[in-house]
Amino acid sequence: MLINHDTRCALDHTVDLLNTAAEDAHDALADVEGLRAFVAGHAVSEVRIDRLGAADLGAVRAVRERFADIFAAPSDRAAAELINTLVAAAGTTPRLTDHDGHDWHVHYFSPGASVADHLAADCGMALGFMVVAGERERLRRCGAPGCGRAFVDLSRNRSRRYCSSRTCGNRLHVAAYRARRRES
Ligand SMILES: [Zn+2]
Ligand SMILES: [Zn+2]
Repeated sequence: MLINHDTRCALDHTVDLLNTAAEDAHDALADVEGLRAFVAGHAVSEVRIDRLGAADLGAVRAVRERFADIFAAPSDRAAAELINTLVAAAGTTPRLTDHDGHDWHVHYFSPGASVADHLAADCGMALGFMVVAGERERLRRCGAPGCGRAFVDLSRNRSRRYCSSRTCGNRLHVAAYRARRRES
């Protein structure tokens, strides 16, 4: 599967945004400080962190809900409709940029867009590319009991089931190993 670097970054942002609401942890977007930390940690370009407020927080949390709906979509058609609605509401202005020393890539968010519209446009398009590529099933939730964190399975044979091989994957491997030992 060929996904370019920018799409991959946008997918990482999508997953990280979804996982701010991880069930086993407290909501990292509970307040504006949490939003500022998220934006700072993800180098969301052209966003003034000091100007983020309660309206941004509410809007980003709403975008997070839409991403969750897209991950849970039962079909490509359902996902496409959700993505179209999200991206249309955000507004897009595709343009080439080489900001901050990056290679040329396309930004989709409109100049001056709010952080919520920025994420909706660029992450929404990245999710759209997965549908276009026939790879929507790579948008997954962790299979470990009680986890449910989002991830994008970039493995060659689409075999990844857990959010992180170091935590959930490993935890289950250990549990399976112990179960086998008990049986033998
Ligand atoms: Zn960029
Ligand atoms: Zn997990």
